[in-house]
Amino acid sequence: MSAASVATAPAFGRFFLPGPTDVHPEVLAAMQRPMIGHRSGAMEQLLGRLEAPLARLFRTSRPVLVGTTSATGFMEMAVRNGVRHRALSLVNGSFSERFANLVRASGKESIRLDVPLGCAVEPDMLRDALRRSPVDAVTLVHSETSTGVLQDVAALAAVVREFDDVVLLVDAVTSLAGSPVETDRWGGAGGLDFVLTGSQKALALPPGLALGVASERMVERAKTLPGRGLYFDLVSFLEATTKHQPTNTPAVSLLFALETQLARIEREGGVEARWRRHDAMRRRVEEWSGQHGVAYLPREQRRSWTVSCLKLPEGKTSKPIVAALKQAGWTIGAGYGSLKESTIRIGHMGDHTVAALDELLALLAGLVA
Ligand SMILES: *Cc1c(COP(=O)(O)O)cnc(C)c1O
Repeated sequence: MSAASVATAPAFGRFFLPGPTDVHPEVLAAMQRPMIGHRSGAMEQLLGRLEAPLARLFRTSRPVLVGTTSATGFMEMAVRNGVRHRALSLVNGSFSERFANLVRASGKESIRLDVPLGCAVEPDMLRDALRRSPVDAVTLVHSETSTGVLQDVAALAAVVREFDDVVLLVDAVTSLAGSPVETDRWGGAGGLDFVLTGSQKALALPPGLALGVASERMVERAKTLPGRGLYFDLVSFLEATTKHQPTNTPAVSLLFALETQLARIEREGGVEARWRRHDAMRRRVEEWSGQHGVAYLPREQRRSWTVSCLKLPEGKTSKPIVAALKQAGWTIGAGYGSLKESTIRIGHMGDHTVAALDELLALLAGLVA
């Protein structure tokens, strides 16, 4: 970027795209440090320092894997290492549909349980589907970024546990670090089988890293599966991670950024403090939507804490609203896919604050009226 365009770039805190989200200047600055060798002692120490704060973030006692890939890479890791023959994918939007497509693309049988956009899969529906069609894995998206729906993963995981030898693969890309994700607790003994996220959403890092945790059950299964590939082979990835080694040359600068961001999260009061801030932002949008007669796409109790998907009033479309905000220096998302015109999405995730959200909502009020 030229000096001139840096000078005119909007201030931090106005970029409410539902991913990538705004990255704090302190985190950006961490990426300017000089390189270290990926097989050096410095790298081993860096990965060692990440271990404890990452475990606290994921609420796990298991190793947290960090890969140089977008989140989709770890969705592929989940499928290649978790699905034996056939998976049931809960589909309620674009990212959950991607999980289903990945199952097929990995040469495994895919069964879908589709619900309308804006809805969540409820526990009874999952139980019925699992009774009808035996599978060995279930994929789902916790916070479906395309529709702003938050699924009740604790309840869905409990249903999966009623069935023998079924692993649960969870995309927590816009939930983890923004709303409660209990990797070890949900789903009872052994916890969730694979929980993954990416760097550029609720973690508020630049894009390029994926992070994930696998249960012991999942790792044992992976060892028996052919076709795990190399880059996303869970077994060797885990082995390297426990030795504080990268598998290949990692995005070193992003690891510097990750260490800095983990320290910022701890300074805020840990992941629970972060959940509270996101809960406050979610409530603020709910309050605003009531005041201005702008309806949510998802029903109450099923709304993401990090992305609010709002239905525009009759006669309004997303394009001019998004453009007018852009003109004023603010960025939000239009709807996704078939909802592009009729909805808008505010990505209040990462390091955003209620104060900045208030400013944004005040501007938005003038545009939806
Ligand atoms: C953004 C997103 C992804 C895909 O992330 P990439 O980093 O682009 O691969 C997957 N799932 C959800 C819920 C997302 O929001």
